[in-house]
Amino acid sequence: MTLADYHHLFPLQHGSRQVFVKAGARGYPDPRYELLARILEPFGERAVDLNPGVGLVSAELLEQIPVDLVETSRACLRCLEQSFATHPQARVLRGLPWEAEAEAYDQAVLVLPAERGSRYVELALWGAAHSLRRGGRLWIAGDIRKGFETYFKQAQAWLGYGLVSHREGSLRVAVLEKENPTPPGEAGWESFEAEVWGRLLSFHHLPGVFSTGHLDPASRLLLHTFHPSLTEDVKGRTVLDLGGGYGGLSLPFAAAGASVTVVEDDWVSVLSAQASFRANGLEGRVFHSDVEEALPPADRFDIIISNPPFHLGGEVILDVAQAFVQAARSRLCSGGRFYLVANSFLKYEPLLEAAFGNLSTLRREGYKVLRSEA
Ligand code: SAH
Repeated sequence: MTLADYHHLFPLQHGSRQVFVKAGARGYPDPRYELLARILEPFGERAVDLNPGVGLVSAELLEQIPVDLVETSRACLRCLEQSFATHPQARVLRGLPWEAEAEAYDQAVLVLPAERGSRYVELALWGAAHSLRRGGRLWIAGDIRKGFETYFKQAQAWLGYGLVSHREGSLRVAVLEKENPTPPGEAGWESFEAEVWGRLLSFHHLPGVFSTGHLDPASRLLLHTFHPSLTEDVKGRTVLDLGGGYGGLSLPFAAAGASVTVVEDDWVSVLSAQASFRANGLEGRVFHSDVEEALPPADRFDIIISNPPFHLGGEVILDVAQAFVQAARSRLCSGGRFYLVANSFLKYEPLLEAAFGNLSTLRREGYKVLRSEA
């Protein structure tokens, strides 16, 4: 798959509706979305979809009522914009599920984002409660193997009456009515400190991002390969972090005097990285970007680093990692270096060989640190 293939949007016919999908975008194929899209009944005059993905569920609702689609992923937003930009009833919004307009909707729909962890799901459920008018209805879809029962109970505690309306294998859909006043909320920010290259850094993040509460051991290993001999080399260099999360890899580079750019698909992570840079008095450019697509086209870098994702909604995927490797090849200055850290079992070597024609394995300690030169 080339970078152009990765960025291509395809029309998908789903029943009588059409939505656009692309590599790296959540929500299709996904049996939770498909089930909810099939059985959902529109209610009232205005709806909000708090985890639309590529928009299967919203596409159904939009036949009957106006829908606001609140999404965090840039890859998904690209699909949603293509599918619904000219739809008079749709509003595609980049945002957090717990920051939707308060008490503004008759209906909220939420495919439980269980792969992001329970704190994130709870905040999303709180967001759903917050967004509904009294008497409004919440539809949730999930999997009993991924905490559905617990989340359903939490939703009942906040909203009021609810029942499980559909069961299919381990999948469940429940409908709840908002009888109670909106419960008090909390912002959700967390932080921790970690020492890297002899400097104490403070990392800030919202729930649901990669490696909450501590630096990821693979990212630590990549940082370790730079210490102590290579850190001098970092000063004054331009560094790009592909898939930057809350800045676990990139903050140390900024603290060591590099000029740092981050691209990140997830808006929750973008906000977290910005908060982390700010908290340490460091500069860093953070782009909400599906791989490199939002970067200024002429930007090139001396060093590119990455701890690429290999899960999407719980499935192992290598499309995004492959796009990262190709983006690294196209964005390095001549003589620049790309450092990638990954689980040992992931077969990234052929991808790097194909893109760069050279490869060194710098470390192998549970994870492996690979380097290619442009
Ligand atoms: N560099 C960080 C995070 C690594 S996890 C650290 O080491 O702590 C990989 C990151 O890639 C996640 O934050 C994930 O949201 C992001 N990501 C996933 N798909 C992406 C895409 N298509 N474009 C950009 N970033 C993506």
